[in-house]
Amino acid sequence: MSEGRRIAILGGGYTGMVAAHDLCRKHDVTLYERSHSLGGLADDFTLHGTPLERAYHHLFRSDKDIIQLAEQLGIGGNCDGCLL
Ligand SMILES: Cc1cc2nc3c(=O)[nH]c(=O)nc-3n(C[C@H](O)[C@H](O)[C@H](O)COP(=O)(O)OP(=O)(O)OC[C@H]3O[C@@H](n4cnc5c(N)ncnc54)[C@H](O)[C@@H]3O)c2cc1C
Repeated sequence: MSEGRRIAILGGGYTGMVAAHDLCRKHDVTLYERSHSLGGLADDFTLHGTPLERAYHHLFRSDKDIIQLAEQLGIGGNCDGCLL
């Protein structure tokens, strides 16, 4: 177990997941999500075998923090089609 505080985060949308990602470096973090999957408004669902976004999303090239986070997570290449 990591040193530091025990922290509970309610909600596994983007905000909760980023908070968990940052805090778990120094603390013992538990993330609680009430739905069956993570992502919140940025989640997707499958309709007739096709994955669809719950809400349309794009990123501006000036959204440096999230682009950097995606690169850290090894999914930066997935952002190319979303950048405006
Ligand atoms: C149509 C649309 C288009 C958008 N386009 C963009 C865009 O292009 N670019 C952009 O940056 N943003 C966009 N947004 C906004 C973006 O989707 C949200 O700002 C972001 O997803 C919010 O994340 P969040 O984690 O704060 O909240 P949410 O995504 O709402 O996540 C909250 C999570 O908490 C969970 N939860 C709630 N109560 C509890 C509980 N008591 N216990 C456990 N879990 C709980 C919910 O199930 C949910 O998963 C768009 C939003 C919409 C609706």
